[in-house]
Amino acid sequence: MRKTQFSVLAAAAVFGTISLASCNKETESQPSQLEQTQDAKAELAYPNQTGQAKQGEFSGQPITYQEINGDKVYEGDILLTTEQVAASEGQNRPGSAGRTSGRWPSAIVYYTIDAALPSQNRVTDAIAHWQANSPVRFIKRTTQSNYVTFRVGSGCSSNIGMIGGRQYINLASGCTTGNTIHEIGHALGLFHEQTRNDRDTYVNILTQNIQAGYEGNFTKYSAQGYGGTDYGVLDFGSIMMYGSFSFSSNGQPTITKKDGSTFNIQRTGLSAGDKSGIDAMY
Ligand SMILES: [Zn+2]
Repeated sequence: MRKTQFSVLAAAAVFGTISLASCNKETESQPSQLEQTQDAKAELAYPNQTGQAKQGEFSGQPITYQEINGDKVYEGDILLTTEQVAASEGQNRPGSAGRTSGRWPSAIVYYTIDAALPSQNRVTDAIAHWQANSPVRFIKRTTQSNYVTFRVGSGCSSNIGMIGGRQYINLASGCTTGNTIHEIGHALGLFHEQTRNDRDTYVNILTQNIQAGYEGNFTKYSAQGYGGTDYGVLDFGSIMMYGSFSFSSNGQPTITKKDGSTFNIQRTGLSAGDKSGIDAMY
């Protein structure tokens, strides 16, 4: 939504300039060079003032803006609210981590549900949740060659992103609607939040407490061989984030916050960070 508002603003600014220019050409008395210079100068929030250049994030994209008299000024005359700009200095919004390749074209995921899968409402409810909270659309597959089949599995699992051809989301009987939302997140290209490249800024990984064979679930995605982007800052409330005791071999935490404290796992629905990451990707 913010992206749209911003695009409209930017388009209006550009279009306004273009129509003014063409209008000038048509009029017989063209404004003098001085007047034209003043016109352009007028389109500034604070003429003759330059503020402090700051790095921020807008709609998941890094931007540079000027802070002048407490206002956040972008491209000379566009004022952004504090909510719109999450400045880099510790105020970044929570985000998520997404794979660079393997995006679903036009944000459409084609899918089938295996007839043998019990409790199919887990799938339809998870899809409804994604559709209510993201620009991604899910359409029953007819003849499309790239699609997801939801089927019975030994656990809950998915590929990361669109891999081409038929791919599966596997759901054991213990996989809930929340787990299904999580697995769909993987299929859309989301990594586990604790595998972000910048995760060491936010968490400690306690390798000695991880069950043997599951260390890979805590490896940064770049070290797993994936290209990706860390959007915003690590979101402890992400549906893609493990809890402090996930895959613990001994009851001790596998992940803590930097101050050593533990946190809960969330598998109810998409967090603000999950939505913002997917908005940036799709
Ligand atoms: Zn997962």
